[in-house]
Amino acid sequence: MAQDVLNLIGGEHLPASSGEWLDNFEPATGQVYGRIPRSGLNDVEAAVTAARSAFPEWRSWSPSNRRAVMMRLADKIHENAALLAESEARDNGKPVSLAAAVDIPRAEDNFRFYASAAEQFSSESHTMGDGTVNYTLRKPLGVVACISPWNLPLYLFTWKIAPALASGNCIVAKPSEITPMTAYLLGTWAKEVGFPDGVINILHGLGPEVGQAMVEHHHIRAISFTGGSNTGAAISATAGPKFKKLSLELGGKNATVVFSDADFDQAVSTAIRAAFSNQGQICLCGSRILVQEDLYERFRDAMVAKVSKMRIGDPMNPETRMGAVVSRAHRDKVISAINIARGEGGRILCGGGRHQPSEPRLKGGYFVQPTLIEGLDHTCTTNREEIFGPVATLQPFKDEREALGLVNSTKYGLSASVWTKDLQRAHRFAAGIDTGMVWLNCWLVRDLRTPFGGTRQSGVGREGGYNSMRFFTEPQNICVQL
Ligand code: NAD
Repeated sequence: MAQDVLNLIGGEHLPASSGEWLDNFEPATGQVYGRIPRSGLNDVEAAVTAARSAFPEWRSWSPSNRRAVMMRLADKIHENAALLAESEARDNGKPVSLAAAVDIPRAEDNFRFYASAAEQFSSESHTMGDGTVNYTLRKPLGVVACISPWNLPLYLFTWKIAPALASGNCIVAKPSEITPMTAYLLGTWAKEVGFPDGVINILHGLGPEVGQAMVEHHHIRAISFTGGSNTGAAISATAGPKFKKLSLELGGKNATVVFSDADFDQAVSTAIRAAFSNQGQICLCGSRILVQEDLYERFRDAMVAKVSKMRIGDPMNPETRMGAVVSRAHRDKVISAINIARGEGGRILCGGGRHQPSEPRLKGGYFVQPTLIEGLDHTCTTNREEIFGPVATLQPFKDEREALGLVNSTKYGLSASVWTKDLQRAHRFAAGIDTGMVWLNCWLVRDLRTPFGGTRQSGVGREGGYNSMRFFTEPQNICVQL
């Protein structure tokens, strides 16, 4: 059954003003299962107009009223968790078990967390000796754009729109054209839970069309973007000369570093989870596994034994732990990266190609075998460029110094996961890593209050906690002499 998605503009669900549509594919089958509006300039204009007219009322709401309406939307996510998890699995190809355990609960948490932040966010005052007082207002910006990627669709969409709304802004938001469904569903509940029309506007369509028009729009004051580094660069080039606020969460080529004194079993199982969760399509995935040389062979063999047994299946089956990658184009990109690794002299330890499921329903699906590669040094393309699929390399290292050089050898600086029982080394090594986030003896443990983001080509700025509230507000200092 076709499931069409509509824009949300000023409280109304609408097709694109051009009347054009784009196909929406189910990655597990390769079949079209719905359409999304191919929005453009006119739709952006309508959404910005709606957001601007809603802004005076929304900014005047008390923090507790904003909190209440956001909590009601979180309740809706909770009540519809099963529908959202199934929709995410169908739209993205990820296992429904993962969507139910991670994506949807986290989307709910994002709303609850920032609903509370609406009430708890505060600004500063500074007194001077002579009785002069400075107090700093934190004003919402007005209309802001939130642009999110396909890998964690509702999870990252809500991670942006919740703080934007909590701090009093009206939003024009765009989910990825590849995974529009859960953002659409969320928008269908906005009016019912009590958001005034025009506070939440959601547009669907292609990045270079509707996304670009959002970035260019004169009345959009800030852009919170998560996606690829090249897209981030294009957005910066447009927004920079217009002096818009920008928060950019971009790509990564993260290392998992295992010293020989690490807890072996935990390091093996977490390195596998870090490499292959969500088919390796998480910006924080550890796609370069660096292992101290005296442990290397044992560690490699243990990983290969486990990864070779990973079963790929129908994302809609609750037993499946590894599903399809997100699109045909992305599958081809991942397969081509594996072939580049071969060409560079990499030895494929397991996987290395497409997976063909036996079920007829999945015949046209986009499945890739989980792949481990060794024999490549840090200078080759495979170890430098983000693949963003179920592909990881293994490299041995001699000592701490060499390991640090390898960790920091790419243009990215998002995250790292380090495994050792030596506490001093752990802290020393972590401080030397040039990434925004380091996990010691763990991976992807998240406290929503902490700064989230990367250095160098992994991004600009930090999200999380008050970082996002500060991004979505403009400080204004008022100095008064009493
Ligand atoms: P992408 O850059 O292709 O697209 C991201 C979003 O930007 C989509 O909504 C797309 O439509 C839009 N877009 C594309 N061109 C645009 C333009 N010119 N103007 C405005 N919007 C435009 O990224 P993707 O393929 O959807 O996601 C994968 C990438 O995202 C990977 O590189 C991954 O590492 C990165 N990512 C980063 C984080 C993080 O927090 N650092 C999290 C998740 C994903």
